[in-house]
Amino acid sequence: MNHPVQLAALKRPLPEAFLTALQALFGERLSTTLAMREHHGRDESSYDPMLPDAVVFAHSTEEVAAAVGLCNQYKVPVIAYGTGTSLEGHILALSGGICIDLSQMNRVVALHPQDLTVTVEPGITRKQLNIEIRDTGLFFPIDPGADASIGGMAATRASGTNAVRYGTMRENVLALTVVTAEGKIIKTGTRAKKSSAGYDLTRVFVGSEGTLGIITEITLKIYPQPEAISAAVCSFPDIASAVNTVIQTIQMGVPVARVEFLDENGVKAINKHDKLTLPEKSLLLFEFHGSEHGVKEQAEVVQEIAAEYGATGFEWATRPEDRTRLWQARHNAYFAILQMRPGSRAISTDCCVPISRLAECLLETKADCERENIVHSIIGHVGDGNFHVQMLVDPTDPADIARAEGVNERMVARAIAMDGTCTGEHGVGMHKMDFLIQEHGEGAIDMMRALKHAFDPENILNPGKIVRW
Ligand SMILES: Cc1cc2nc3c(=O)[nH]c(=O)nc-3n(C[C@H](O)[C@H](O)[C@H](O)COP(=O)(O)OP(=O)(O)OC[C@H]3O[C@@H](n4cnc5c(N)ncnc54)[C@H](O)[C@@H]3O)c2cc1C
Repeated sequence: MNHPVQLAALKRPLPEAFLTALQALFGERLSTTLAMREHHGRDESSYDPMLPDAVVFAHSTEEVAAAVGLCNQYKVPVIAYGTGTSLEGHILALSGGICIDLSQMNRVVALHPQDLTVTVEPGITRKQLNIEIRDTGLFFPIDPGADASIGGMAATRASGTNAVRYGTMRENVLALTVVTAEGKIIKTGTRAKKSSAGYDLTRVFVGSEGTLGIITEITLKIYPQPEAISAAVCSFPDIASAVNTVIQTIQMGVPVARVEFLDENGVKAINKHDKLTLPEKSLLLFEFHGSEHGVKEQAEVVQEIAAEYGATGFEWATRPEDRTRLWQARHNAYFAILQMRPGSRAISTDCCVPISRLAECLLETKADCERENIVHSIIGHVGDGNFHVQMLVDPTDPADIARAEGVNERMVARAIAMDGTCTGEHGVGMHKMDFLIQEHGEGAIDMMRALKHAFDPENILNPGKIVRW
């Protein structure tokens, strides 16, 4: 799908001397083939690919520092790449330049089970990490569905299904090693649980989408695997009943580990995709973590609340394989929904509101999609007040795209008016840049711009994302 920003892209060929120096650093780990550039010039957004001129695969912090140092010297844009699952145009090379793929920096650097911390390289994915630490009885809970890299998750301040219980990357990153725009290596934070030592640079880099520095090590909090886990699904007569069940559950302080909403379109899509037979109505999917007794107690309270709102078909999945099947279906929802309109592309968007406004925001957004006759689904991590809208459009039809973007704009305006945010977890990339002023105001955006100018004076780090130069 075309985008005006793309037309304004300022591209210039990579200087010959720069390429020679980069080749000397990376040898066969530098590629300029079209296939490699195409792979790194697209994400899961609806935008057409925008290719970097070259891709390098880094193996160490020092290599990243050397590459960024060269980019600084030759004023070449540089984009960090984890697994490319971001949804808002984050990794598109608007002005060309090089892409540093961090996926081969995927080691666990240090594990401290007694402190509940682990330090990793940025390319390790969340599933890989959990396999590596499984034997310690600990786990890393943040789960954005996609098997994203920990570096990419830190850079987008990701969250997902477990955030209602364990928080987002903001709460779970303790310390970072970062390569700055000048190619220097800095450390932020420590393994201490808390600190009052100066400006909180860790939190400046978390969510900065590769525009302030490249993260090469991340120290994370990890958690004991729960003694007991159980999952349940139930269906509701309408969306409001499902959402009100969630609101009451959260307001009563029930510590659910996950609570996910799927509208009837989402349920139909996963039934077809995953060969399930869930009732094709609004659905909530719960997971409870704790002791045997605690899990039972939480589940009973939730079941009572749900029954008050007319829930039916409460089904429990206590065996790990049944739980995995359910959650796998939930995680497949994005791709399942895409199949609802063959040949279409998805405009995906998310917003997040205070929990008491969730039903209103979600219902008005649903009504807007229906009014505009858009093939869509709404799913969400509703325990956080966060939902996602996936709208399927014909990529060759500008009117179709404009209708979906209209729904997105109105959803964002609605969320902001409710004291919420234009994105709960997907981030800004290119797609949400225009909404930042609406959310934060000119003064705060000027301050963000000043930060960008201070951290990246030559505007080489993922230029054209988050704030305008
Ligand atoms: C099916 C599906 C479901 C999803 N569900 C969720 C969800 O529930 N919650 C959620 O939060 N997200 C979700 N996402 C979005 C996506 O998975 C997250 O944004 C994820 O955090 C991106 O990680 P990545 O490794 O793919 O990063 P990439 O896409 O490779 O990069 C994302 C951004 O981070 C920057 N970056 C990457 N690595 C580094 C680094 N080491 N240092 C500095 N900058 C870096 C990139 O330059 C880019 O700006 C979903 C995506 C898909 C496809």
